[in-house]
Amino acid sequence: MISLIPSPDTVLQMLKRTGAFREGHFVYPTGKHSPHYFQMPLAFRYYDTARVLAVALSRKFRLERDISSQLPKIAVISPSSGGIPVAFGVRDALSAEQIYWAEKEANGKRMFRQYVNQGEVNPCIIVDDIIRSGHAIEETLGLVKELGARVLGCGAIVRFTSAPDKLEDVPIMSLVEFDAHMYDDETGCKDCKKDTPAEHVRF
Ligand SMILES: [Zn+2]
Repeated sequence: MISLIPSPDTVLQMLKRTGAFREGHFVYPTGKHSPHYFQMPLAFRYYDTARVLAVALSRKFRLERDISSQLPKIAVISPSSGGIPVAFGVRDALSAEQIYWAEKEANGKRMFRQYVNQGEVNPCIIVDDIIRSGHAIEETLGLVKELGARVLGCGAIVRFTSAPDKLEDVPIMSLVEFDAHMYDDETGCKDCKKDTPAEHVRF
């Protein structure tokens, strides 16, 4: 079964082909500079690509006895809108019973979009499209624990290697582990030194 999971190179090629992974000279809204840019929803606009990525991630979860033995009484949870297509794809592949997603409120606090009560959320896996800092998935873990649910697994299509590789004792699965280069401003940026024109990106 493990052989049905595409290699990190294959996944990166899919992300490149769909425009979800680009190389160049980018400036983020935070002012940070980087030679690469991920906009994962561009990969998820194509149903076939979305399905291949979500099914691949779901296989990693299915290999975990603690998860497969509890199916279908599992919830798949996305920390943000970006993870919703991943959550639906993984839910579908696992035939998991529940799906939830969180959003950031105007006050900056992350909340579940669904009104849910203590004890209503099945043991869960948290999935996102990309884990850059790990803050979103950590905040979601906090929400899940407040609701009294157990986190059995978590994962994303891409995880930056600068982000944590586990949440408490739960390892973070991913299809690609990416060593992202980020510069706080133009002073350290190699592309600024070469006077390469920069593209300002929204996310
Ligand atoms: Zn730069």
